[in-house]
Amino acid sequence: NASRLLGKTVLVTGASAGIGAATALLFAKGGSNVILVARRAEAINSVAEACASAFKESGLKQGGKFAAIQLDVSDKAQVASFWDKVPADLRNIDILVNNAGFVLGVEQVGDIKDEDIEAMFATNVLGLISVTQLLIKDFKAKQSGHVINLGSIAGREAYAGGSIYTATKFAVHAFTASMMRELVNTPIRVTEIQPGMVETEFSVVRFRGDSAAAKKVYTGLEPLTAVDIAEEIVWAAARPPHVNIAEVLVLPVNQA
Ligand code: NDP
Repeated sequence: NASRLLGKTVLVTGASAGIGAATALLFAKGGSNVILVARRAEAINSVAEACASAFKESGLKQGGKFAAIQLDVSDKAQVASFWDKVPADLRNIDILVNNAGFVLGVEQVGDIKDEDIEAMFATNVLGLISVTQLLIKDFKAKQSGHVINLGSIAGREAYAGGSIYTATKFAVHAFTASMMRELVNTPIRVTEIQPGMVETEFSVVRFRGDSAAAKKVYTGLEPLTAVDIAEEIVWAAARPPHVNIAEVLVLPVNQA
């Protein structure tokens, strides 16, 4: 029931593009307030504006507060000073969507650059953990909250050329599953969404800006859209308080 999301405040990391942007927009349309964070200030500002327009069109009375905050989740100092940037009326966060993440390159072990290894772990794992640590204290203090982490099919199955990315997503799975068990018997919920192939900037980032190579990945298959995943995230958040959606694996029909 989407009315459970009316007036809730959601923090979405990686909200400047792809799944994060679609998720911010869908929460906005449903009457939630949204804090959007990412590294590209201009891009999050424009998604926040789209959220404001979508809310206006919805005619809903609750929600409609949006803040675009530039934040690199891999930068510990920026994460530590995050609360300073959050407007007072958005400090009571109900739902955290840890979505920021990427894969860089398709190189095999031995050829992968150290800086790529560090960058993927810094955002996908350490950044996700830092933001969670920041919010979970507040969730525990008020005994409510929902952490929704973006894992991946790559956090369940390894593939050649994906050693570092899959290692980061297996780590997200282990972290998420452990936290869920720690929070059993509390009202705080923990969900892992595991998408298969979704056509976003993700593939362009993976191929370091080579759009033709990025597009080739989807040959012979109809990939998911960012909206498909946003719908799963919002659905998990809108379940009744006693229901915890632990894991959702979402694949295109022609991906095994
Ligand atoms: P996109 O590349 O379209 O979006 C990634 C988002 O993450 C951008 O908004 C980017 O914004 C943000 N981001 C990256 N690094 C940081 C950082 N250090 N701090 C803050 N924001 C950051 O990819 P998707 O939307 O497809 O991916 C979203 C999530 O879904 C990722 O965790 C990804 O691993 C996962 N996923 C994606 C799949 C796919 O096929 N697309 C499949 C399975 C999982 P900016 O550059 O402005 O910082």
